[in-house]
Amino acid sequence: MITLETPLENIRGIGPRFLARLDDFGISNVRDLLWHFPFRYEDFSEISKIVDLGVGQQATVQGVIEDIKVRKTWKRHMFIIEATIADETGSVKAIWFNQRFLLAILKKGKLVSLAGKVIQTKEGGIALSHPTYEFINKHIIEQEQMTKHTGRLVPIYPETRGLTSKALRYLIKPILDNLQKLPETLPGEIIKKYKILELNDALRGIHFPEKIDDAREAKERFAFEDLFYLQLINLQERLRLKKQKSHAFNIDLEFVKKLLFEIPFELTNSQKKSLWEIIRDMEKSHPMNRLLQGDVGSGKTIVAVIAAILVARENKQTALMAPTEVLANQHYQTFKKLFSKFDKGAGLITSSGAKFFYGDNLEVGAKKPDAIKKIKFGEIKIIFGTHSLIQKGIEFNNLGLVVIDEQHRFGVRQRAQLISGDYNLAPHFLSMSATPIPRTLSLTVFGDLDVSIIDELPKGRKEIITKIIAPENRDKAYAFIRGQVKKGRQAFVICPRIESAEEENQKDLKLFSDWQKWELKSVKEEYEKLSKRIFPDLKVNMLHGKMPAKGGSASGGKATKESIMRDFAEGKIDILISTSVIEVGVDVPNATIMMIESAERFGLAQLYQFRGRVGRGEYQSFCFLFTEFKSQNIFKRLRSLIDAKSGFELAEKDLEIRGPGEFLGKSQTGIPDLAMKALQNPNLGKTAREAAVEIINKDPELKNYPQLKLKLDNFQKQVHLE
Ligand code: ADP
Ligand code: MG
Repeated sequence: MITLETPLENIRGIGPRFLARLDDFGISNVRDLLWHFPFRYEDFSEISKIVDLGVGQQATVQGVIEDIKVRKTWKRHMFIIEATIADETGSVKAIWFNQRFLLAILKKGKLVSLAGKVIQTKEGGIALSHPTYEFINKHIIEQEQMTKHTGRLVPIYPETRGLTSKALRYLIKPILDNLQKLPETLPGEIIKKYKILELNDALRGIHFPEKIDDAREAKERFAFEDLFYLQLINLQERLRLKKQKSHAFNIDLEFVKKLLFEIPFELTNSQKKSLWEIIRDMEKSHPMNRLLQGDVGSGKTIVAVIAAILVARENKQTALMAPTEVLANQHYQTFKKLFSKFDKGAGLITSSGAKFFYGDNLEVGAKKPDAIKKIKFGEIKIIFGTHSLIQKGIEFNNLGLVVIDEQHRFGVRQRAQLISGDYNLAPHFLSMSATPIPRTLSLTVFGDLDVSIIDELPKGRKEIITKIIAPENRDKAYAFIRGQVKKGRQAFVICPRIESAEEENQKDLKLFSDWQKWELKSVKEEYEKLSKRIFPDLKVNMLHGKMPAKGGSASGGKATKESIMRDFAEGKIDILISTSVIEVGVDVPNATIMMIESAERFGLAQLYQFRGRVGRGEYQSFCFLFTEFKSQNIFKRLRSLIDAKSGFELAEKDLEIRGPGEFLGKSQTGIPDLAMKALQNPNLGKTAREAAVEIINKDPELKNYPQLKLKLDNFQKQVHLE
């Protein structure tokens, strides 16, 4: 009997290669596999006669393979496999790109069921484009259909390299048929009250629905389940927080005024208001749990840093954590510049080393163990680092404030992790994000988090001129960039990957059916092209995540992320080609051009972040979105980056176009995709919350719900590990 715990290698018929691929996606046992849900279904339940096929239709046909051959396209060096299928009413072509192995499988004379979209061919005929196939027997055609891939509602799984929907269906169907009945995880009273589909039915319904309503109900169940867990965690955490004590700071407003006076610019009104809200929170004896939201460049860091200085004045420490070392370093440098007189110790800890200073611009070239000791003894009050600062076990003396920069995964869960040390007094907690999250969403996802919003940019910022560049205008864009650089400006070029597609995928070209990915620009290719052919006279360099963070033996004297970023900031590089490592926070006021290759590959929120890298200085800035595609959908999506007046407006649009899952990104929140999608339906979120409150009020520790408690622990682990 198969159980959820059964490892996939114990299941017959899965080869080692496929196991490895599944493993890459974290799928190693039956549970992982069954919880890998389809994201849509294609309706191939009607079997069409070939004579009836019409362009644009999703259709299943069944017939004999009369002919199959391969031809090569002259333009893209691709192989096209072309088969002719015939039933008693006529014949139709079926075409596949780059799947030469099909020649060995789809042999002449075999009986197949094919499901796919009917397209118009160049020659004026029709064809099935990239259809799914399965072999059938004569008598099956005549009798009941027992198909997995065709002739029914067919599940489509998130397309990932080497893990096709077809293979997944092939694997999942027999497992579902032989699975032991699973115990229900949701409380019986909740199932009954909210009319929720039972677990076993839901699993079957989500993978192989009879009709589309089955799939909908099943999805709703799983989404409800996740939202329900999320709410339970939020509520439990809130109860815990309420019991916690925190240091109630005694903040001297005269000192704050003096401090603000020392900064070379005046805070905007929203910065002041946010700072005020933070101060008020830190004066209370239970921990602050606040999110500071504001557009890229709106000046969140300075607000957090002022809070840190106030905390230091009370002899407590602050940990300021950025998502990358480049950024942590920049925060540290900015701090040193703005508050060179700060004499209570401010330091930077990265994977490769440490620095700190005490006023008078005196920087101590520290050894890391030294700095760690000083932090432990409380001799450094403000510590900059990456998100690992806390997880990696740096010991603090008396942490009063924790600040997390540019991360969506703020909120209660993260916080729980941070303060689980044995502090008598829990630190106050501030997270900062440039991704505006509509209120409805943040309430469901992050629970009762207090939010401060910076909704204005510092004075004098100019709007960034944003343009979508079609391939034929590429040269013009290059000419324009050259002109800007000649005037002394600098440019970023962002590419979606480091190596060229060929290099990365040499091994699996055969499995690589998604030919579009070949068009992706890579940092290295782009570097070769721009430095040698397009801008040989300019200083071009590159930056990517695989480079060592900074100097020392690891770099062997080669360029490091830090050295490149420093050179760019100092104007020694004109054009910097990079992966998304510069996505967040990096500040170079002289950079006025942001050029994004394969812009369609990035989410709007991400593009928005990229664009925020420019427009920080006095000069007019530009953002060029390059795309090779002429798709209305892509244009529409990219255009919203041009049309949106603010980050919040963009967020609403992004949410509307892509849904909450894509918008927030699973990796950012740790929230399962399905629950994310479900958030679009505010009712489901509300119901889940209601149900969670009901259970927690009755039984805060879940003593009477062992199944639920177990599931919740797993869920929590999963969310943390993301
Ligand atoms: P973000 O909100 O994206 O983190 P930063 O905190 O990096 O923004 O601020 C962007 C730049 O604007 C920094 O160089 C910062 O010193 C500067 N800045 C912050 N607040 C103001 C202000 N009120 N007036 C002028 N410049 C400011
Ligand atoms: Mg920032």
